[in-house]
Amino acid sequence: MPDWPIHIIVPLLALLIVGRKEDKKYILLLLPLAIVPDFDSFVDQHRMLLHNIFLPMLFLFLGMIIKQKKAIFVIAAVYLASHVFMDMFDGGVVLFYPFYNKMAFVDASLSLSISNKLIWVFDYGFKGYSNEWMIANGYISDSIGTAALIFILLAGVCTVYRNRRRQL
Ligand SMILES: [Zn+2]
Repeated sequence: MPDWPIHIIVPLLALLIVGRKEDKKYILLLLPLAIVPDFDSFVDQHRMLLHNIFLPMLFLFLGMIIKQKKAIFVIAAVYLASHVFMDMFDGGVVLFYPFYNKMAFVDASLSLSISNKLIWVFDYGFKGYSNEWMIANGYISDSIGTAALIFILLAGVCTVYRNRRRQL
Protein backbone atom coordinates (compact mmCIF):
# COMPACT_ATOMS: atom_id res chain seq x y z
CA MET A 1 0.00 0.00 0.00
CA PRO A 2 1.49 3.36 -0.95
CA ASP A 3 1.66 6.24 1.49
CA TRP A 4 -1.58 8.14 1.79
CA PRO A 5 -0.29 11.39 3.32
CA ILE A 6 1.42 12.49 0.12
CA HIS A 7 -1.68 11.53 -1.89
CA ILE A 8 -3.76 13.72 0.40
CA ILE A 9 -1.48 16.70 0.99
CA VAL A 10 -0.20 17.37 -2.53
CA PRO A 11 -3.54 17.78 -4.40
CA LEU A 12 -5.09 19.51 -1.37
CA LEU A 13 -2.35 22.11 -1.44
CA ALA A 14 -2.55 22.49 -5.22
CA LEU A 15 -6.34 22.91 -5.14
CA LEU A 16 -6.21 25.38 -2.26
CA ILE A 17 -3.70 27.46 -4.23
CA VAL A 18 -5.59 27.36 -7.52
CA GLY A 19 -9.19 26.97 -6.33
CA ARG A 20 -11.67 29.79 -5.90
CA LYS A 21 -12.84 30.78 -2.44
CA GLU A 22 -16.37 29.55 -3.13
CA ASP A 23 -15.05 26.09 -4.05
CA LYS A 24 -13.14 25.62 -0.82
CA LYS A 25 -15.88 23.51 0.77
CA TYR A 26 -15.87 21.09 -2.19
CA ILE A 27 -12.08 20.89 -2.03
CA LEU A 28 -12.36 19.73 1.59
CA LEU A 29 -15.42 17.50 1.15
CA LEU A 30 -13.98 15.65 -1.85
CA LEU A 31 -10.60 15.08 -0.21
CA PRO A 32 -11.26 11.33 0.39
CA LEU A 33 -11.19 10.86 -3.41
CA ALA A 34 -7.43 11.32 -3.19
CA ILE A 35 -7.10 7.81 -1.74
CA VAL A 36 -10.03 6.09 -3.46
CA PRO A 37 -7.87 4.60 -6.29
CA ASP A 38 -6.12 2.37 -3.74
CA PHE A 39 -9.37 0.53 -3.07
CA ASP A 40 -8.73 -1.47 -6.22
CA SER A 41 -6.43 -3.55 -3.98
CA PHE A 42 -9.55 -5.17 -2.58
CA VAL A 43 -10.43 -6.74 -5.91
CA ASP A 44 -6.83 -7.82 -6.62
CA GLN A 45 -6.43 -5.20 -9.34
CA HIS A 46 -4.21 -2.73 -7.58
CA ARG A 47 -2.62 -0.05 -9.76
CA MET A 48 -4.96 -1.13 -12.53
CA LEU A 49 -8.75 -0.92 -12.09
CA LEU A 50 -8.85 2.56 -10.50
CA HIS A 51 -5.32 3.72 -11.38
CA ASN A 52 -5.89 4.74 -14.98
CA ILE A 53 -6.41 7.85 -17.04
CA PHE A 54 -10.04 7.13 -17.87
CA LEU A 55 -11.53 7.64 -14.41
CA PRO A 56 -10.38 11.28 -14.08
CA MET A 57 -11.32 11.85 -17.74
CA LEU A 58 -14.84 10.61 -17.02
CA PHE A 59 -15.20 13.24 -14.30
CA LEU A 60 -13.85 15.96 -16.60
CA PHE A 61 -16.33 14.85 -19.24
CA LEU A 62 -19.21 15.00 -16.71
CA GLY A 63 -18.04 18.49 -15.76
CA MET A 64 -18.30 19.53 -19.40
CA ILE A 65 -21.86 18.21 -19.66
CA ILE A 66 -23.20 19.29 -16.27
CA LYS A 67 -21.91 22.85 -16.41
CA GLN A 68 -23.57 24.09 -13.18
CA LYS A 69 -21.55 21.52 -11.20
CA LYS A 70 -18.36 21.86 -13.21
CA ALA A 71 -16.17 22.86 -10.24
CA ILE A 72 -17.17 19.73 -8.29
CA PHE A 73 -16.32 17.40 -11.17
CA VAL A 74 -13.05 19.16 -11.93
CA ILE A 75 -11.97 18.95 -8.27
CA ALA A 76 -12.85 15.22 -8.23
CA ALA A 77 -10.84 14.72 -11.42
CA VAL A 78 -7.82 16.52 -9.93
CA TYR A 79 -7.88 14.29 -6.83
CA LEU A 80 -8.05 11.11 -8.90
CA ALA A 81 -5.52 12.25 -11.50
CA SER A 82 -2.98 13.40 -8.93
CA HIS A 83 -3.10 9.96 -7.28
CA VAL A 84 -2.52 8.20 -10.60
CA PHE A 85 0.21 10.67 -11.57
CA MET A 86 2.14 10.25 -8.34
CA ASP A 87 1.87 6.44 -8.37
CA MET A 88 3.26 6.54 -11.92
CA PHE A 89 6.41 8.02 -10.39
CA ASP A 90 6.37 5.37 -7.68
CA GLY A 91 6.55 2.05 -9.50
CA GLY A 92 4.00 2.63 -12.23
CA VAL A 93 0.29 2.34 -13.06
CA VAL A 94 -1.68 0.56 -15.79
CA LEU A 95 -2.51 3.96 -17.27
CA PHE A 96 -4.62 2.79 -20.22
CA TYR A 97 -6.43 -0.10 -18.51
CA PRO A 98 -8.36 -2.01 -19.86
CA PHE A 99 -7.06 -1.24 -23.37
CA TYR A 100 -3.34 -1.61 -22.76
CA ASN A 101 -2.26 -3.70 -19.79
CA LYS A 102 1.32 -2.53 -19.33
CA MET A 103 2.44 -0.24 -16.54
CA ALA A 104 3.46 3.28 -17.46
CA PHE A 105 6.24 4.41 -15.16
CA VAL A 106 8.53 7.34 -14.56
CA ASP A 107 11.54 7.01 -12.33
CA ALA A 108 12.99 10.37 -11.40
CA SER A 109 15.09 10.69 -8.28
CA LEU A 110 18.06 12.49 -6.86
CA SER A 111 20.07 10.92 -4.07
CA LEU A 112 23.37 11.22 -2.29
CA SER A 113 25.79 8.29 -2.29
CA ILE A 114 28.04 7.22 0.61
CA SER A 115 30.89 9.12 -1.03
CA ASN A 116 28.72 12.26 -1.23
CA LYS A 117 28.15 11.97 -4.95
CA LEU A 118 24.85 13.09 -6.41
CA ILE A 119 23.00 10.29 -8.17
CA TRP A 120 20.35 11.44 -10.61
CA VAL A 121 18.04 8.77 -12.03
CA PHE A 122 15.67 9.45 -14.89
CA ASP A 123 13.89 6.68 -16.71
CA TYR A 124 10.41 6.23 -18.17
CA GLY A 125 8.41 3.91 -20.37
CA PHE A 126 6.14 0.88 -20.12
CA LYS A 127 6.80 -2.37 -18.30
CA GLY A 128 4.83 -5.57 -17.74
CA TYR A 129 2.31 -5.68 -14.88
CA SER A 130 3.82 -7.87 -12.24
CA ASN A 131 1.38 -9.88 -10.11
CA GLU A 132 3.07 -8.56 -6.99
CA TRP A 133 1.11 -5.36 -7.56
CA MET A 134 -2.29 -7.11 -7.40
CA ILE A 135 -2.54 -6.76 -3.66
CA ALA A 136 -1.03 -3.64 -2.16
CA ASN A 137 0.95 -4.16 0.99
CA GLY A 138 3.13 -1.95 3.10
CA TYR A 139 2.63 1.33 4.91
CA ILE A 140 -0.61 3.21 4.57
CA SER A 141 1.24 5.98 6.35
CA ASP A 142 4.85 5.73 7.42
CA SER A 143 6.03 7.61 10.48
CA ILE A 144 7.05 10.84 8.73
CA GLY A 145 3.83 10.72 6.71
CA THR A 146 1.84 10.60 9.94
CA ALA A 147 3.82 13.59 11.21
CA ALA A 148 3.05 15.48 7.98
CA LEU A 149 -0.67 14.72 8.36
CA ILE A 150 -0.68 15.91 11.98
CA PHE A 151 1.01 19.15 10.88
CA ILE A 152 -1.62 19.80 8.17
CA LEU A 153 -4.42 18.83 10.53
CA LEU A 154 -3.16 21.33 13.11
CA ALA A 155 -3.17 24.04 10.43
CA GLY A 156 -6.80 23.13 9.72
CA VAL A 157 -7.74 23.28 13.40
CA CYS A 158 -6.04 26.70 13.71
CA THR A 159 -7.98 28.01 10.71
CA VAL A 160 -11.31 26.83 12.13
CA TYR A 161 -10.44 28.37 15.53
CA ARG A 162 -9.44 31.70 13.95
CA ASN A 163 -12.61 31.84 11.84
CA ARG A 164 -14.74 31.11 14.91
CA ARG A 165 -13.09 33.93 16.84
CA ARG A 166 -13.65 36.31 13.97
CA GLN A 167 -17.34 35.53 13.98
CA LEU A 168 -17.70 36.27 17.70
ZN1 LIG B 1 -2.32 4.18 -5.49
